Amino acid sequence: MTNHESNVVGPDVMLIALAASISNTPLIPNAAVLGELLLHHHHHHHDTSKINNLIDSMRASSPTRTRSSSLANNNNNNASDNQDTINSWMLYHPSALNMFDQIVYNMKGKKIVTFLDYDGTLSPIVADPDKAFMTKKMRGTLKDIARHFPTAIVTGRCRDKVYSFVKLAELYYAGSHGMDIKGPTKSRNPNKGNDKALLCQPASKFLPMIEEVYKILLEKTKCVPGAKVENNKFCLSVHFRCVDEKCWAALAEQVRLVLNEYPKLKLTQGRKVLEIRPTIKWDKGKALQFLLESLGYENSNDVFPIYIGDDRTDEDAFKVLRNRGQGIGILVSRVPKDTEASYTLKDPVEASSKIFLLLLLFNFIRKYFLVLFI
Ligand SMILES: [Mg+2]
Repeated sequence: MTNHESNVVGPDVMLIALAASISNTPLIPNAAVLGELLLHHHHHHHDTSKINNLIDSMRASSPTRTRSSSLANNNNNNASDNQDTINSWMLYHPSALNMFDQIVYNMKGKKIVTFLDYDGTLSPIVADPDKAFMTKKMRGTLKDIARHFPTAIVTGRCRDKVYSFVKLAELYYAGSHGMDIKGPTKSRNPNKGNDKALLCQPASKFLPMIEEVYKILLEKTKCVPGAKVENNKFCLSVHFRCVDEKCWAALAEQVRLVLNEYPKLKLTQGRKVLEIRPTIKWDKGKALQFLLESLGYENSNDVFPIYIGDDRTDEDAFKVLRNRGQGIGILVSRVPKDTEASYTLKDPVEASSKIFLLLLLFNFIRKYFLVLFI
């Protein structure tokens, strides 16, 4: 479970503390509050506390409940404290929409590759994961984007499932947290050949084990009202979205007991979801790297990857971009979260209506600069 820990806490606490110490005084107490909030996740040594931490983490990543309950429990100035925390967080992870000039400057002349998470990024988070439909407008924008740049959907879902939502054959799809990657089945550019053969499934030998655990979990979670187990082919999701919060700990404990018998599988946490995956060193970050390599950008300084996501699992991809020193990571979130992303967007609607238009604009600017200087 050590892999999970790196998922939960990043080095941003230090950055916030440092930034607060060199910035204006009003920031200091708020940064401290945020720091405390983030450090809180550090203390887990045995299984029970790990489960409690997963539950705490899940609560923290469920915005409405977190905010309304904290407002209800404390009646002194909490709303303004909240706003201050958001403001100081936004200083270090500004809105992508407000940082236009800088982003355009950084991507000038480079080749854009777009990576997009699905749930909570392209579609709203809904109670029934089978109904997380994307709007027509979003599909149209995606089609436009894919016409201009290589575009990949990177999701924890089963690849076929997410394809049934998106329905665009010209995209790359990385399902099961990147463990099931397939290239476009329809060429983005009819004049060029494409990589139809592209297929990468690094966890294929885990398939029978995942099937087995899926069946056990279906059986064991039957008695918890609202619990839903989703089979994502190379990984599983246990959804807490429709489960009474009082039963979260019991459900998580049930899942942990099953997983105790399968040391080759690990448990991680997402937005109101527990994820079960193989312990192989593969995640959305590795998928991003693999796709960049197969596009021929392995050692290229000429590429500008843009990754947009809302989940803890997207942090692996943000981290890869940070380490490469290339492109930008954009976190979709309304509330302050510890993140490796450089920029933020508030919600999928904002992502759909603005960021894609901006991308098209960027592409126009890129062409414009190429015409001017080459
Ligand atoms: Mg998501």
